[in-house]
Amino acid sequence: MNNFKDKRYNQYSRHLEDVFGCKIYKITLDAGFNCPNRDGTISEGGCIFCDEGGSFSRVHSNLLSLEEQLQTGISHSKVRYKAKKFISYFQAFSNTYAPVEVLKDIYNRSLNHKDVIGLSIGTRPDCVDPEKIDLISSYTEKHYVWVEYGLQSIHDKTLKLINRGHTSEDFIKAVKLTQNRGINICAHVIIGLPGETREDILETAKALADLGINGIKMHVLCALKGTELEKMYYKEEFKPLAVENFVETVCDFLEILPPDVTIHRLAGSGLNEILVAPIWLTERFKVLTRIDRQLEKRDSWQGKFYK
Ligand code: SF4
Repeated sequence: MNNFKDKRYNQYSRHLEDVFGCKIYKITLDAGFNCPNRDGTISEGGCIFCDEGGSFSRVHSNLLSLEEQLQTGISHSKVRYKAKKFISYFQAFSNTYAPVEVLKDIYNRSLNHKDVIGLSIGTRPDCVDPEKIDLISSYTEKHYVWVEYGLQSIHDKTLKLINRGHTSEDFIKAVKLTQNRGINICAHVIIGLPGETREDILETAKALADLGINGIKMHVLCALKGTELEKMYYKEEFKPLAVENFVETVCDFLEILPPDVTIHRLAGSGLNEILVAPIWLTERFKVLTRIDRQLEKRDSWQGKFYK
């Protein structure tokens, strides 16, 4: 039975409002981190879809200090989104890729504002260790904390094809290290990866359902300007997913997930200026409406087939 309020899935923004009793907004911060898959430690090329902004996550100027970015983001979101409280969000590149003392200073500064109630850290699964997880866990006493791991696919053959530079085993190890420490875990997945069938994608959904993670962020694979994938697109080696296939697959994916997993995003946003393909992604709200309609048409919802 569908027990969700606005949507037929467990929308993260709605969940936050229910938990905190007011509108919460994530403020994207850029602390100048790099990524071992771009700086030569693992590879120099990075993932085939990664642009110079660090993977679907171009942010505002990193010429501003963290404090300035935070204050600007908060002032803007209070007016534009009527948000009352905020989560500091480190999104671009790998935001645990630095020594613990450096991380501590950055995270502390990002929480040093009366309206900031939480911290969300996007990173690679091979960029955490027990010491870093201890640090992140220490914030859970007073704050609402998430770690967002880029997985993309549970299939190692796909991870190799897209040059992720880590394995699914690395992801599973990171999840086990992070679980039971008061930290919420979100996994990022991409739909439409080269060579993946619908069954492959749903195996990723099943694996995530079994692992007991707390949130999911879904993207469609898209070619951005300046990426390896853009070159593949022009050489016709990458064919973007049709919107109908994306919508159907997202619904299949949602049906398999446990109902308590929060859905942070169902398609990337803010990419229009650098998007090459698929062009339908520029109309993200229409895509979200199609997902709503498809779930209605199926009389389905997140968790319908979760066992
Ligand atoms: S892990 Fe993220 S930042 Fe690093 S290369 Fe891949 S997409 Fe880019």
